[in-house]
Amino acid sequence: MKKSSIAGRTVAGVDIGGTKVTFILWSNGSMQYKLVLPYAAQSGREFSELILKGMVDLRQRATGAGTSILGTGIGCAGMVDQKRGVLRFSPNMPGVRDVALAQIVAEGTDAPAYLENDANCALFAEWASGVAVGRRNVAMFSVGTGVGGALILDGHLYVGRHGFAGEMGHIPMVDRGLLCGCGRHGCLETVGSGTGIERYVKRALARGSKSLMTIEDAASARTISVFAQNGDDLAQQAFKQAARSLGRAAGGIINILDLDMIVLGGGVAESGLLMDEMKRVAQRRSLPLLFEGIEFAMAHYRNDAGAVGAALLADQLLKGQAVYSM
Ligand SMILES: [Zn+2]
Repeated sequence: MKKSSIAGRTVAGVDIGGTKVTFILWSNGSMQYKLVLPYAAQSGREFSELILKGMVDLRQRATGAGTSILGTGIGCAGMVDQKRGVLRFSPNMPGVRDVALAQIVAEGTDAPAYLENDANCALFAEWASGVAVGRRNVAMFSVGTGVGGALILDGHLYVGRHGFAGEMGHIPMVDRGLLCGCGRHGCLETVGSGTGIERYVKRALARGSKSLMTIEDAASARTISVFAQNGDDLAQQAFKQAARSLGRAAGGIINILDLDMIVLGGGVAESGLLMDEMKRVAQRRSLPLLFEGIEFAMAHYRNDAGAVGAALLADQLLKGQAVYSM
């Protein structure tokens, strides 16, 4: 937790993850304060109460520093209706549906609030103040438990007709593939995610593949990454096959969108074990003229990407600057 005197324009950012909510105050181009609250929300009501609790804390911090929150950006995994500020559905919180989050936060803070998908927030953070500053066409792959994604096209966040665009994790890669969390088979996420890496190792161990890893090690992509870095062949193969599927997907997206940059983020990508192979396969699978000059970059923001992006998004919307491509 960081504390300092806050002056000038202050906005709040909230990132709602699978097991915790991150709240930040942002001003003068940096994070001034951060609060993390763990939770296991069973209902929309419990969930709203937790968010308001965090916002009360942020407001007190801001007041104590002689400023006030001009507005709040909220990033959340799942399907969000950004026009109405409603969280439709989140895979992390099955009991929480159709919560008017933006309105709840706006009323609790007496300031405007905006809701956006967490992957879109993470890319917005990179685009407004990270590795993608100044690029006009950017795709992001966030590799964690699943695979998230987001798009900046012609210098605007592209969210599509329903607001759900950029679901890279659910690009159908193979016929009759593994069952995905979305209910379909063979999505990128079934192979190219932390879960996909863990599954690959578990299956190989069950078949008797040689490795220093135990079945317990195979329960965590992070643990597998340590074995890979220490030269374990199976662990390296597991990351390689995930990177290959990410590279194939990236190649397709490059061909469709003629991008300036691909940003790779998320906890599993931080191992550094996905980028090279992903890039190599993307090159092999895309048209040479479209691949030429494209940049691949690791995300600058890590755990705080969602909260920072949400705050920056709110800041830009409050200034009346266009964020969306429509
Ligand atoms: Zn899927």
